[in-house]
Amino acid sequence: MGRLNKLACRLLLASLLVVGGSGPLRAQEESYTVAAGDTLGTIAARLGVTVAELAAANGIDDPNLIRVGQVLLAPGRSAVAVESAGATVAVRAWPGDTVASLASRYGVEGGQAAELNGLPAARRLFPGQPLQIPAQAAPPPTAVLGAVTSVQMPATLLQGRTGRLFVTSSRPLQLEGHWNGQPLIFQLLQEDGLRQAAFLPVDALLAPGAYPLEVGYTTSSGVPLRLQRSILVEAGPYDSQEIVVSQEKAEVLTPPVVQAERERVVSVWSQVSPERFWLERFQRPIGADYPTTSPFGTRRTYSVADIGNFHAGQDFGAPEGTLVFAPAPGRVVLAEPIAVRGNAVILDHGRGVFSGYWHLSEMKVGVGMDVAAGDVLGLVGNTGLSTGAHLHWELRIGGVAVDPMQFLEEAPFPAP
Ligand SMILES: [Zn+2]
Repeated sequence: MGRLNKLACRLLLASLLVVGGSGPLRAQEESYTVAAGDTLGTIAARLGVTVAELAAANGIDDPNLIRVGQVLLAPGRSAVAVESAGATVAVRAWPGDTVASLASRYGVEGGQAAELNGLPAARRLFPGQPLQIPAQAAPPPTAVLGAVTSVQMPATLLQGRTGRLFVTSSRPLQLEGHWNGQPLIFQLLQEDGLRQAAFLPVDALLAPGAYPLEVGYTTSSGVPLRLQRSILVEAGPYDSQEIVVSQEKAEVLTPPVVQAERERVVSVWSQVSPERFWLERFQRPIGADYPTTSPFGTRRTYSVADIGNFHAGQDFGAPEGTLVFAPAPGRVVLAEPIAVRGNAVILDHGRGVFSGYWHLSEMKVGVGMDVAAGDVLGLVGNTGLSTGAHLHWELRIGGVAVDPMQFLEEAPFPAP
């Protein structure tokens, strides 16, 4: 009997000793050794858990790839077993692991792990295979779902604000998911593809309550693995106001005009560019001397037409002709006069993020132009449905209008 087998036996014995609680598991089913003819489905049924739970607990990426002799841990049970001497702990291989790659995730030298386990450092391990490492080694990243090793999300979000979802994985994954029914748009945060993030934009009028988040990926054999959570949305601190518009301006705003303009802008900001232009915190789109005159999120009623029922951007009061700057790198995707928004510029910052600049007296950029943070986009004006010279600055993420001021305070994806 080799050293590994002895250790595996100790592991099973240790499992027998930690049994407790209720449920369908019997003592000897803390773990299960795969036999000929088993599938993950039959083992899951035997252990009284779902296939997804069993796959997640064992870092199994492809539920069709289990092997005879592989030891599977029952979900929710002890994931590591401490050897009697207390000097080592068993950790479990992920798909594709070698002795060295598994050990390195815990900060342990491949050579040391090889010696401890009596195996060559380059030896391939099957998914879930135990490997002994020193007990004082770094705490392990545990699989959350197949190859997904961590999912971080806020417990609560405010109306009109933007949350972030961070996902790490043991190998690059094509992540998918939804937040409140809208597809998540993921961005790579590291070149190795092991850390990704997505914005969680909250509509300013979304009723307070719990909303579903679903994230996962599809395995190479076509099995969708999904993690489901919910996030509590709380009310934002927004006031109400009524906007009175002059008869002259009101006359041009017939329902068909308003509707056509809405379709025009939605067609622009519903796109998702593959590039990500935007990496740093936003800069102000207007000089610091020009204060906010109407904040994002105010509930609004208009004396004319159905223009919308809340303020979808931030207004800065400034005289006509004041310079308007790009807050971050982007590409100009709209620069034209439209009825409600007046002379309007929209920047695409990549990965479903757009910013808009309305009511300009003059536009200084054209469609297709790439801009850097601080480049001049145009001049403040009073065009379109506006009651005085000001800049209206708007931010859209996946089409949802969110508070742009949040991104003057925070980097798009602050390090945790
Ligand atoms: Zn405004």
